[in-house]
Amino acid sequence: MCSITDTAARSEISATVAVIGAGIVGISCALHLQHAGFKVILIDRLGPGEATSLGNAGILASHGMIPVVTPGILKKLPGMLFDPMGPLSLRWPHTARMLPWFWQYLRNSSHANVTRISDALADLTIGSVEEHLSLAKPAGAEKLIKAEPTLSLYENEASYKSDDYAWKIRRKHGARSKIIEASELASFDPELSPKFKFGILLQDYGYVLDPLALTKHLARGFEAAGGKIIKAEVIDIAIENNRPERLIMAGNSVKFDRLVIAAGAWSAKLARKLGSKVPLETERGYHITLTDPGLMPKAPVMATFGKFIATPMSMGLRLAGLVEFGGLEATPNYARAETLLKHAKILFPNVRTKDYTQWMGHRPALPDSLPVIGPSPHFANVFFAFGHHHIGLTTGPKTGRLIAGLIQGEKPNVDLSPFSIDRF
Ligand SMILES: Cc1cc2nc3c(=O)[nH]c(=O)nc-3n(C[C@H](O)[C@H](O)[C@H](O)COP(=O)(O)OP(=O)(O)OC[C@H]3O[C@@H](n4cnc5c(N)ncnc54)[C@H](O)[C@@H]3O)c2cc1C
Repeated sequence: MCSITDTAARSEISATVAVIGAGIVGISCALHLQHAGFKVILIDRLGPGEATSLGNAGILASHGMIPVVTPGILKKLPGMLFDPMGPLSLRWPHTARMLPWFWQYLRNSSHANVTRISDALADLTIGSVEEHLSLAKPAGAEKLIKAEPTLSLYENEASYKSDDYAWKIRRKHGARSKIIEASELASFDPELSPKFKFGILLQDYGYVLDPLALTKHLARGFEAAGGKIIKAEVIDIAIENNRPERLIMAGNSVKFDRLVIAAGAWSAKLARKLGSKVPLETERGYHITLTDPGLMPKAPVMATFGKFIATPMSMGLRLAGLVEFGGLEATPNYARAETLLKHAKILFPNVRTKDYTQWMGHRPALPDSLPVIGPSPHFANVFFAFGHHHIGLTTGPKTGRLIAGLIQGEKPNVDLSPFSIDRF
């Protein structure tokens, strides 16, 4: 940590609230705080939305409260790892260092833990389309959000039934869905391969036509309403008067009254500076966006056979998914991403896969699939909002609303104890 004398010579900007991280979670916090009347500064070393929030599958998964690991995962793991077309891969040597994290991860797959975790996640996911629309409208970004169902697609009814555990959880939380039998699938979407005989439409879902453009629009709305965005890396957090009061960047600093750490997969280092140790890892994921696919699905498709999502977006057909454990530093392995091209051909036999862009991003992953949302146990003026795993786009706006409420001293209308940074 820096002392006052380290920072005295720097140029200084002051804010009531400083937010580190301009991904979908950070921008949502900044906008909700701005709407509540705070003077907010948002700091990111990249442009808004240019890290993980750039390349996701765009799904607003209102019933995406199923944690990443569920009962039976141990039996499925070897099959996933040894299948070259499978969704999971490991990069060494980082994976070896993750063993304690994996142990915690697997322990959370028991029925009791999954029930506890999905109940907590439901408080964040349900209503996500409405949360997004209400944040996007003042920024003129609602045209990027489609309040339309997503199709979950199975090879046959038996494979759907093998997923019964997850569907029971979704239904317990009020998921509205519509079964599409084999005979109806071709008329629902003629581009789907006839190999697939069972579909189920998740009716309260939505999707985003361009996740990067959404965050950029929100950021522009934030600036138009008087918010300030600084492009710089926060290298330290200075403690002054016995509390964090200043963010240190190369050449300047930001003095704040309250601080929100929303730095996605990079948040652990910042939290640690303020005395909180969290087992934050990254689940690296990939996308391929087909820029000349020759077809577009009628609705986003969650292809259960390859555990990936095909989303019709404004820049092309995006295929997103895969989980790779390998830390924040390893370079992308785009050979993995090519699996998505093969999967696309299985899903849509007539799709053109010649022209595409590819991307790798870092899902911020805690071993219980729950984010950290709430105050620091050490400093009353610090709040955390990170670790949103596979559902950060879905749950960003609700997280922002909760953080803004906490900073205003309101009692949250959801139980925030499962999201406490103290739980590890
Ligand atoms: C392949 C894939 C598909 C996905 N699909 C979906 C989906 O369909 N639906 C869904 O809900 N979610 C999805 N997700 C998850 C979702 O994208 C993430 O949960 C979400 O983007 C996380 O947002 P964030 O704001 O926390 O992090 P980020 O977007 O990563 O933002 C964190 C920001 O903090 C900045 N930062 C970090 N450290 C510092 C520092 N020291 N100083 C300054 N700035 C700093 C970074 O530059 C970055 O911009 C997917 C993820 C992947 C990888």
